[in-house]
Amino acid sequence: MSYEGKMLKDLKMPTRKEVEEALLKSLFYNNGIIKEFGAGEEIVDEIANEFNLNKEQRNIYLETIYKKENRLKKSSLWHRLLFRAADNLAKEKLVSRPSLTFIITNKKEWMLTEDGYDKALKLLSIPNNEKEILPVKSYEVQRIVKKINDQEIPSEYNPIEPNKIYTVSKEAKLRKRGFRFAIVEAYKYQCAICGLKLFSPNNLQWEVQAAHIVPHSLNGKDDIWNGLALCRLHHWTFDVGWFSLEDNFHVIASNKIHSIDNIYGIRGTYNFFEHISNEKLFLLLPDNQHHHPHITAIKWHRENIFCK
Ligand SMILES: [Zn+2]
Repeated sequence: MSYEGKMLKDLKMPTRKEVEEALLKSLFYNNGIIKEFGAGEEIVDEIANEFNLNKEQRNIYLETIYKKENRLKKSSLWHRLLFRAADNLAKEKLVSRPSLTFIITNKKEWMLTEDGYDKALKLLSIPNNEKEILPVKSYEVQRIVKKINDQEIPSEYNPIEPNKIYTVSKEAKLRKRGFRFAIVEAYKYQCAICGLKLFSPNNLQWEVQAAHIVPHSLNGKDDIWNGLALCRLHHWTFDVGWFSLEDNFHVIASNKIHSIDNIYGIRGTYNFFEHISNEKLFLLLPDNQHHHPHITAIKWHRENIFCK
């Protein structure tokens, strides 16, 4: 047995396999991403806590002779174990390495891949279809998000995809999740109409939804210019045409609101109809102008969905 192997055994350190599983779970609870392990990085202690490691287990160093320069090299046993586990997960394509993730996020981070995500869900006994709503990122989906964000606005934008193919393929599912991430992140998890920002108490779901301006069912594109982040109330009321937008993003309310009984649209002190008919109501837009909805999509909604 190697010197390191003996140390691991004598100190009763967790096995590499156990650390791999802890890493996958930790990645899941950190929305799919953890920083590269460095000294003083919170995640290093967080996973050590999972195993209730004592002071010695956390702090012991392994001393090896660095042959080239004939000097002693000290490295933390726990760091080495953690790194080996992550390295093995990368070899099995369950995580992406910091050097690879960097191309997408510009940060040196470990990120779950779709296979790693599936494995984490299995370890945590969470049904796989929850992927549709969980905020956990994966390498494959983030690649799509990057593509959506980096796209140049075409000179003649059409929010409708003429030959949209309806499949339930893996790729279509990934694209759907990519759209959702791109939109809600551009709008900082806030409803573009009322500004509501709300997470579930376990931090695993957000209230805001990614809405298509030209609906998905009518071949609306899954890109940033055909999307809006809306709370459930404003998503539904937008989809059925209670309100729409002018080209300058001013909110306009359907004329039908004048003939509706005043028992409708009330929630405590909030009056939906009063709110959307306020002359000063404008869409809360992403900071990045490039991510604003396209006027072609808005015009289409005004002409085809909005109930004048
Ligand atoms: Zn809202």
